Formats: sequence, structure tokens, C-alpha cells
Amino acid sequence: MTQFDYVIVGAGPAGCVLANRLTADPDVSVLLVEAGDRDANPLIAMPGGAVQLLGDPSTVWHYPTRPFGPSQEVEFWVRGKTLGGSSSVNGMVYNRGSRADYDELERLGNPGWGWDHILAAYKEIEDNPLGASDMRGAGGPLQISTFDEADALLDDVITAGAELGWQRAQDLNETDEERIGYATATIRNGRRVSAADAFLHPIMDRPNLTVAVRTVIDRVVIEDGRAVGVRGRQDGQGIEATATREVILAGGAIATPKLLQLSGIGPADVLRAAGVDVALDRPNLGARMREHRAFQMQVRLTEDLGYNKLLSTPEGQQAAAMEYQTKGRGVLAAPSFPIVGFFKTRPELDRPDAQFQIAPFSIAPREQGKALEIEQEPGMMGIGYALRPDSEGHVRITSADPEAPLDIDTNYFATERDRTTAVDVFRGLRRLFGTGPLAKRIESETLPGAAVDTDQEILDFEWTVGSAGYHAVGTCAMGPNDDDVVDPRLRVRGVSSLRVVDASVFPTLVSGNLNGPVTALAWRAADFIIEDA
Ligand SMILES: Cc1cc2nc3c(=O)[nH]c(=O)nc-3n(C[C@H](O)[C@H](O)[C@H](O)COP(=O)(O)OP(=O)(O)OC[C@H]3O[C@@H](n4cnc5c(N)ncnc54)[C@H](O)[C@@H]3O)c2cc1C
Repeated sequence: MTQFDYVIVGAGPAGCVLANRLTADPDVSVLLVEAGDRDANPLIAMPGGAVQLLGDPSTVWHYPTRPFGPSQEVEFWVRGKTLGGSSSVNGMVYNRGSRADYDELERLGNPGWGWDHILAAYKEIEDNPLGASDMRGAGGPLQISTFDEADALLDDVITAGAELGWQRAQDLNETDEERIGYATATIRNGRRVSAADAFLHPIMDRPNLTVAVRTVIDRVVIEDGRAVGVRGRQDGQGIEATATREVILAGGAIATPKLLQLSGIGPADVLRAAGVDVALDRPNLGARMREHRAFQMQVRLTEDLGYNKLLSTPEGQQAAAMEYQTKGRGVLAAPSFPIVGFFKTRPELDRPDAQFQIAPFSIAPREQGKALEIEQEPGMMGIGYALRPDSEGHVRITSADPEAPLDIDTNYFATERDRTTAVDVFRGLRRLFGTGPLAKRIESETLPGAAVDTDQEILDFEWTVGSAGYHAVGTCAMGPNDDDVVDPRLRVRGVSSLRVVDASVFPTLVSGNLNGPVTALAWRAADFIIEDA
């Protein structure tokens, strides 16, 4: 590899958007480096294939956390490792966060990140078949769609939500009020639309773009306080590339702080303990990490509705595969959770602080080392989480060896506010399942079951049975202060020609899933990079 104007590390949503925007100028050369391989696995394109991909180490990273919670469990944080990054393996739910999330970024001292700027970015990015409006884009590179398979059970879920006073939304992204509706998803015509599909594949033939797959970057090369390139391995061989303008890190909220720490930028005590020479002491690098902690609730249905019957038997699976192959529809074409909703845990709040997602299937109790199994009896699953927790964990290297495990401290439920809200979100989902026509469809709650009832029992359950939301942010948070890792234009403080553009720069969590927000963030960051050139 040789010399480029920009070297971008990581081909997730952020990296794909940046490669697209920066190479639109034919005089600018870009190297996009991705640790994983091309996104040729057919399970990536099929929405129902995501579950299988998550267990495959050739397509995803598995990062073990520190043990946590009452049962001292270790959780494996998953991230995509292929062109498109996590957008090639994720649940495809497309949310944008609320106006107040972005206005809060400006209030925290980050000019240019308010809702008006971000909405403009979304409108340029989106291709929404509902058509362009004040709140939506049409004709942009990212094809999205709203789940539209007729389903009596799911209709009843929406009716139950409406009975609780939540708006029945045709487009969940149109309002920030309490709402419920069919998910908008990065799916079109039964196929996943990853960031690579939207932003990278259409421009792969630009002569000023070089894409290097199966290439892991281990160090940013810094000379006299300036980032001049990167060093890593391609198929086991050492490689180097030089950036004449900038090195841009887009490896995501776990890999980017890791790479910076391996390069000698981070908390001095952490770097010394890991045996890395300290180039720049940055105490907040890898700290201030926030993540959604999602709990899972399951119910048994009175009638044979939902997807269990189809997904739990070989004959049913064959029928589903046939429907997908011939019509591009059916359960294998659906987003992981076809219904999404947002509500307030307390009526006096000015906007929703809880999110839930509903899937018309349920999972058998997990057995260590075994793949997930769909239950044979009819069931339904909901997950829920508090939208804006303020507990902060960290990501730290433990060794100078890039292959060594990280120290990831989830630090879930560290604040009283997070613990109280988590319990209230759980009770809100229980209330939904107990309302209107939906209540009549439900025989019993099977997970956790009625025995889990007090606040402490609910909290312990959420800590023990659940998962990360896959939305970690904050490990290289932007801000106006000297101790913020990147400035509001996402330049790493203390080193020139080095930027971070990925989920790690959000200082606070966005109110929803993160793929859309990271895409818009990168679109906006491209404006800054082009202006600053
Ligand atoms: C299982 C799962 C389900 C999810 N479900 C949803 C959902 O339904 N809706 C939603 O909106 N969001 C969802 N998300 C979250 C969303 O996909 C991510 O927030 C988003 O993709 C983050 O984008 P990113 O560019 O910051 O990082 P990533 O998407 O993680 O991309 C980073 C890329 O950088 C590469 N990389 C990392 N380190 C290096 C290195 N050293 N050298 C070279 N390359 C490197 C990685 O291989 C990866 O391809 C989900 C995520 C996961 C993992």
C-alpha cells in the first residue's frame, strides 16, 4: 500500500459514508481499510440470516466483557466484521433518535450538530418509499422501508399500545411523541440494505478509491505530533499506508479506542500497565462509555399465531425459505423486531425515555454452548430498555498485543436513576402485554414469569437475563473541553491530522437504535472534513 490523501480505518456505516463522500472529488484519493472480508455471504443479504451470522467469527467480532451483575456473567459484545460493519449483521431497525438528542449535542458545546443540521443530513441520505416530507428524505442512497406483512397478532399489539394512549405511527421517525408502529428498516424488496450496499458498492469503481479487506490496522503512525499513516497486517503480512491529509478512525466504539490506546494515546496508567509507551495522556479515552441494557420478556399465546410453528420445524423452515426465494417475502424478509414503540415511564416527562421492540416468536431457554432454538409452542417476545442511561463504563487495552482481550466494563445500572428507569420500562412492557385485545391472546408470561415482581427482583432479572443493546457510545466523546477526546469537528485533541468518526464520538446515547444516527453523523462529519481540507 502506498500513499493516499485520506486513510479510513473500518468499513462500517461511518467508513462507508466517508469513503463515498470524500471520493466524490476525483482529485482526492482514499484508502478504506476493513479487517473483515467482502460481504459476499448470502446470509448477509437475507434479513432472516442475521441470527446465524452472529455466531460466525469470520463475520463478527466477539468481545468478552468483565463479569457483572448478580450472577457475575460475562457477556460477549458482538460487532460486524465485513464490508458494512455492524450494518451487515444488525437487526435492521431504522430509528433516527429524537430532535432533543441532537439539540443536546449543541447545548453541550458542539456547534453544527443540532437537529436542523442532522435532519438535513437524514433527508439527503434516505430513500423512504413513504415519500419526501418535512421530516423524511426520498431518492437518497439509503433504501429503507416499513414492515407491511399483514399479521393479526402484531395488529393487536399496536391496538394495545394505542389503548395505552400511544400514537399509532405510520412512520415512527416522524414524531418524538409516545408511539407504536411497524418498524422502519434498512430493508428493500426483502433484502438487507447495509451501509456497504448504500454507500460503497455503487462507487467501488471510482479510480480514486482503494478498498483493502482482510486488513487489520494495529497502530496509527504519529510523527512530531501528526498522524501520518497506519500500520497493520493483511492476510498475516505487515503493511503500512501513508495519509497526506488525514487518518480517520471509523472502527466503532470498541475498536477505535483500542487502536488509539495501542498507538500510545489514552490514559497514561492504562497504557503503562499494558506495556505501551505513552505518546499522549488522555484520561477520557475509552472511558465515558454508555450502552443500552436490554431485557427480554416472553409470553405464551392462547392460539397458534406468530412465527414459532414455522421456524421451529424443518418443514416450516423449508416453507419459509421457499416463500423467501420465490416472493422475497415472509418471515425471512422481516426485520428482527417488526414492531417498535417509545413511551414515557412517568407522565410528567417531556419525551419518551423507554423503547421496546416486539417479535412474534419466542426462544427456548438457552443452553450453554448451544445455538438459539425457537420454541415449539406459540410465543411472543419483547425487549425493552431505558433510552438515555447515564451509567458509564470503559474500554481499555490490557496488553500491547493487538490480539489480547480488552477490559470492557459495562457498568450497567450504576446510577439510581438508571436502576429506577429500568424497572419502570419493564413494568411498561408488562402493561402493554396486559392491555386490550393483546391480553386476550396471552395465556401467561413465561419469561421471567409472574414470580418476578418486586423492584429488586425485576432489576436482578434485567441484569442477569438480557443483553447489551449493541449501541455503545462515548469512548472518544466529542466536546468543547480540553479533556474531551475529540473536538466538535471530531479532531483528536493533541494530535493533528487525526479524526474519529464513528459511534464512539457521541457523548450521550441517542434515543433509539444507532445505525441511522452513525450514518447521519458520518454524513455531517464529511462536510467538516471537506471544509477543513
Ligand atoms: C447484533 C447487532 C444488532 C444491531 N441491531 C441494530 C438495529 O436493529 N438497528 C440499528 O439502528 N442499529 C443496530 N445495531 C447497531 C449499529 O449497527 C451500529 O451502531 C453501527 O453499525 C455502528 O457503526 P460504526 O461505523 O460506528 O461501527 P461498526 O458498524 O462496528 O463498523 C466498524 C468496522 O470497522 C472494522 N474494524 C474495526 N477495527 C478495525 C481495525 N483495527 N482495522 C480495520 N478494520 C477495523 C470492523 O470490522 C467493522 O467492519 C446493531 C448492532 C449489532 C452488533
